[in-house]
Amino acid sequence: MPDVNLQHIDKIYDGGVQAVYDFNLDVADGEFIVLVGPSGCGKSTTLRMVAGLEDITNGKLIIDGKDCTRLPPKDRDIAMVFQNYALYGHMTIYENMAFSLTLRKENKEVIHRKVMAAAEILDLKSQLNKKPKQLSGGQRQRVAMGRAIVRNPKVFLFDEPLSNLDAKLRGSMRREILLLHKKLNATMMYVTHDQTEALTLADRIVCMSMGHVQQIGKPIELYERPANTFVATFIGLPPMNMFEGKVEKGDFKCELFNYPLNEKQKEILKDYEGKEVVLGVRPENIVREGPVKLAITNNENLGMNTLVHGKIGGTKIVVCKFAEWCNYVEGDEINIGFDPAMTHFFEKPEGDMPGKAIR
Ligand code: ADP
Repeated sequence: MPDVNLQHIDKIYDGGVQAVYDFNLDVADGEFIVLVGPSGCGKSTTLRMVAGLEDITNGKLIIDGKDCTRLPPKDRDIAMVFQNYALYGHMTIYENMAFSLTLRKENKEVIHRKVMAAAEILDLKSQLNKKPKQLSGGQRQRVAMGRAIVRNPKVFLFDEPLSNLDAKLRGSMRREILLLHKKLNATMMYVTHDQTEALTLADRIVCMSMGHVQQIGKPIELYERPANTFVATFIGLPPMNMFEGKVEKGDFKCELFNYPLNEKQKEILKDYEGKEVVLGVRPENIVREGPVKLAITNNENLGMNTLVHGKIGGTKIVVCKFAEWCNYVEGDEINIGFDPAMTHFFEKPEGDMPGKAIR
């Protein structure tokens, strides 16, 4: 039985803004789900509906077999960790972690046992008598998680918990959250706009745009087999390069170059002769031989690889990622091609609708 089951969920805010359209997801027991997408795509709204902080306009929410669609938050057996973790400044770390249990008038010994167990998991035992302002940002974030852990909820919900931390700390907190997930073996739903967090944390990613789910799958599925142009350019950094063109007599033709297709690519595109399509290729799948001339504008060495930026035909900006140290300078010209096993084809996007993958 799935642990959290969202069925045909819509959210329409007062005033008529529809933030979420027909959201469907089965979250398995112990699974780590990451909702990812740009700001405003409806991911927090979805999480807040699971938490009970927003009404569900249409659809059904089942948690652990129980219909929770209209239940108040306190009856849902969930705990939420926010971006603004707002610890109580006048209380010690111990008191902050104990707060929800104290409020519930739990037995003091039970509270002590639970707080100490959470402090052990989060490596906060030596901090319990301190006040929040004496702790680092990362430690405070751990206290916020501690407050959730002591409640031993069925489901943990995280709303952009790391976005207030600097880049280095975000990296180490990501690893801590993964360890925590392993130790607790708990079901987690996690919201972020950061595709790196999604790829590194998730068992499965739910990628959203404009209130619609675009794709649900394992990180590698979204990376290797994006369902449409939106997912293709949102997952992966730097984003996939996209070229609009036409399939014509065995070539992919765009304004700037002709690209001969191999047999496998022709087979994939057999129903698209004469039609407009989009060719996508990730920076890491561009090779340094082929029919396309790239005028280099910028060379960024990252140590183990180099991001090379350039233009095709003076206009189209392309980013390549080569797995070695390169020393190009502005004005250099190189020939590039696309690893044929790693090209992606999509139908042409129409207005706000992303173009569907062609396979
Ligand atoms: P995300 O978490 O992906 O950034 P949100 O779920 O916060 O996006 O918002 C989704 C959409 O719903 C946005 O267009 C936002 O402006 C709108 N929205 C969010 N909260 C409210 C609200 N309380 N009232 C009206 N519209 C809202």
